[in-house]
Amino acid sequence: MSAARGAPAGRPDTGSIRTVTGDIAPGDLGWTLIHEHLICSLAKYWIPDTAPDLATAKVSLETLTRVKRHAFAVRDNLVVDDVENAIRESGEYLAAGGRTIVEVTSHGIDRDVRALEIISRRSGVQVIAGCGYYIQITHPRNLEDRSEQSLSDEMIEEITVGVSGTGVRAGVIGEIGVGTYPMHRAERKVLRASARAQVATGAGMVVHSAPGSKESVFEIVGVLERSGALMDKVVVSHLEERFRDDIRAFRRIAATGAIFGFDTFGREIYYEGRRKQHPSDTQRIEMIARLLDAGLGDHITLAQDICLKHELTRYGGQGYAHVPANIVPRLLHAGVPVDAVEAMLSGTPARILTLRPGV
Ligand SMILES: [Zn+2]
Repeated sequence: MSAARGAPAGRPDTGSIRTVTGDIAPGDLGWTLIHEHLICSLAKYWIPDTAPDLATAKVSLETLTRVKRHAFAVRDNLVVDDVENAIRESGEYLAAGGRTIVEVTSHGIDRDVRALEIISRRSGVQVIAGCGYYIQITHPRNLEDRSEQSLSDEMIEEITVGVSGTGVRAGVIGEIGVGTYPMHRAERKVLRASARAQVATGAGMVVHSAPGSKESVFEIVGVLERSGALMDKVVVSHLEERFRDDIRAFRRIAATGAIFGFDTFGREIYYEGRRKQHPSDTQRIEMIARLLDAGLGDHITLAQDICLKHELTRYGGQGYAHVPANIVPRLLHAGVPVDAVEAMLSGTPARILTLRPGV
């Protein structure tokens, strides 16, 4: 047998990227947001007490400013479920130069892979679906009793066969959730299962880290390293908020091979519950420029993590087109070279997302 053993006939033995409508060559990925949600629900996060009068209000231009200040107090804001609108807004993303969305909605926040397939077919955007489990407070009751092996088997099946009889296959592991520091033991089990599934498939992994905690990031990376994860295909999310301008922390993560998610562009809200302002786009761009100067450009990926209604253009938000339409020009104005932009939006995502040949 030749070296191509195990690969389907006629295909090069190099591995593909798996979208909800089929496999593509890594060179066809194009500009890619590594961490987005087209259809999801964070209703389990609902905290009405910070603004009880807004709890059941609708997101509208009249309520927008107050919704942004109390984003998690407004139940309506936590549900993004309009397929027609997702098709329309994916079109805006394509028109701005984007081509692929990594849709990391996982178990616990209402993944709907059939809806993703429809959005992809009707808008033309390439969508890569996630698998695995989000943070512990969203876990199904039976997860405590399940073994690491059964969780990794489930992820492998969703990547290789499909998601519960739909025939739609996942193409990435995530968003795997870690909600607190130290992490919950069930979150540790899911992380270890994710590492196993990654070794079996070569899939990329996207991990949510605990808000406001540098230590959470180091803990996640430690668990994954000890579990034999493919560290250079692991994106640790939301690092602009976890590390802010701590370049030593970024270096420490880069030394493990892991990738930084600068993935909340456009989110400039104040978190009333945590009494903390999220970083601004200006701060994100300044930090990226410093990381590029430090030679860490190959560790950077970009996204917006749209998961709240007020972030959609229909409700006055930045929409999926924000990175290609607004952030790319600002990066170039800040002196970031074109090839570095291409690496962050295309080259590095393609490397992360390419599956093992024959999977
Ligand atoms: Zn997310």
